[in-house]
Formats: sequence, C-alpha cells, structure tokens
Amino acid sequence: MRLANLDDRAVLVAADGLAIDVHRASGGRFGPDVVGLYPRWDEFRAWAEQLPADGSGAPIDPVRLGPPSPAPRQILAFGLNYADHAAESGFAAPQVLPPLFPKFVSSLTGPVSTVVLPAGGDTDWEIELVAVIGRATTGRVAQAAAWDHVAGLTVGQDISDRATQFSTPAPQFGLGKSFPGFAPTGPWLVTPDELSDRDSLALQCTLDGQIVQEGNTKDLLFGVARLISDLSGIIALHPGDLIFTGTPEGVGLGRTPPLYIRPGQELVSTIEGIGELRQIFVAADEHGHAPRSQRPAPAPEVAS
Ligand code: ZN
Repeated sequence: MRLANLDDRAVLVAADGLAIDVHRASGGRFGPDVVGLYPRWDEFRAWAEQLPADGSGAPIDPVRLGPPSPAPRQILAFGLNYADHAAESGFAAPQVLPPLFPKFVSSLTGPVSTVVLPAGGDTDWEIELVAVIGRATTGRVAQAAAWDHVAGLTVGQDISDRATQFSTPAPQFGLGKSFPGFAPTGPWLVTPDELSDRDSLALQCTLDGQIVQEGNTKDLLFGVARLISDLSGIIALHPGDLIFTGTPEGVGLGRTPPLYIRPGQELVSTIEGIGELRQIFVAADEHGHAPRSQRPAPAPEVAS
C-alpha cells in the first residue's frame, strides 16, 4: 500500500499511479486528512487492503504532495549509522545505539520544495530512509516484533547547516538540522510488504545531476528493527512519529575541501521502491527569508 498526503487529504496511490481519496472511498470512515490514520493504523490498513482498484483515481502532481506524516509528535534522527559515514565524519562506528538528535517539526515539508539557504551557513545533504511509526510502543519492543510497529517507509533528507551544527563546544545538531524546509519527506509512505527486501534498499542522492551519495540500507549499522527495539527501551514511540535512520557516506562535510549547496542548485534524493525528493535551494534575502518570487504559492482550496 502507498499512502500519500495530497492537498492535505489522505490518498491511496494505486498501481496505475493515480490517487484514490480515502475519505470518499471509505464513505467518511477514514480521513479526510492523513494525521488521523496513524492512531488507527491497523484498522485503516485492513480496510485499504480490501479496497478494489477500480480505476477511479486522479493524477498526482508531486508539487501538491505534503509530508506522508505531517504532524508527528517526534522526529527522531540518528547520526553515524553507516560505518563509511562515521569514518568520513572522523568518528568510530558506534557500538551502542548511535547518537540521536531531534529534527523539529517546523522543519518538515513534502517531497518537492524550495529551501532557503541560511545566510552565512554551510548547507549540506544527507539522504536517509525514514520509518513512520504505526503502532505505539510502551516499554521495550523485541527486535522480532519491531517491524510490526512500522506503518511504512519513506524518503527523507536530513538537510544540515554545518556552520550552526558546529557553532557550539558540543555539536548543535537539533538546531543545525531544523531550519525551515530542512526535513523534506515523501513522496509517499510505502508499506514494507510492497518492497522486495525491506532491509536492503538502494539510496542515491544527486546535486545538479552529479551523484554525491550512493548507498544501501543493508549497510545500516543499526537497522530499522534494532533502532526501534533499542529506542523503545528508553522513550515511547507514537503513531505518526518519524525515525530518520542515518545517512551513508558522501556528504559535503566529508570532502576535501568541503562542498556545500549553492543557490540555484537542485538536490534529488531517491530510494529504491519508494520514490524521490526534489529540492531547489535559494539564497536568503536580507531578512533571512526566501526571495518573494520563490515563496511557495498558498495551497489551493480543495472541495471535499
Ligand atoms: Zn542525518
């Protein structure tokens, strides 16, 4: 099952790529928005799986997609979870749960966006597999049961301003990675059964068409099941929460000299079996805002 957030409405993405409105197709039982689906995930999924593909869908314009989980209570992001990225960052590979930092919800967007480069910053890319929680945890979940708590997977970019991140004696991860638009996600949520191997997905990130990151989630030091198991032993996970699982090597910070994003550049982040994100970067005006011409148009009114 593929679930998208189209114009703030939950839609299923059918095999033909067309959108089926959840609220209409369920006679009002689910939706119209996607947020309310996660606390009822098991019930919703059972309904969605018996829905006949009747060819009544509408085309999807990716620009109108929002985040698959637009209002998570927590966005939890792991660092140093691939050995090659830990090495390029100058750290040993973690032996226990890798370092975790928050990405604040205000940085969350859908898959296609314009991102303002912070003035004086060094903005970098980090493609990441993102797991969306579909079942609450109370206490530690065994690794064997961890995938049962995952609603699905999506693509994420952990965009990072290295200047802010390293502006303090200990790294300022949360703020450096939470400027507006620094957490694009999408294009939709894919349930793990749709993937040939949920633990082995190729990731690729390009900047202006040049490949800057290539990896595979089979190289995660702590895979999705282990992350959820260890994490749930410390904090409660809530339906709709996002877990950014970490990035493979190839970030700009790890290069000699470092390479950062310039105004006008386009970043495309792709994960096998899921889809892609597309970000264009612009310079901030003198107030730190996007130039007026680059501000996203207000969302169109949608009849229900
Ligand atoms: Zn990251």
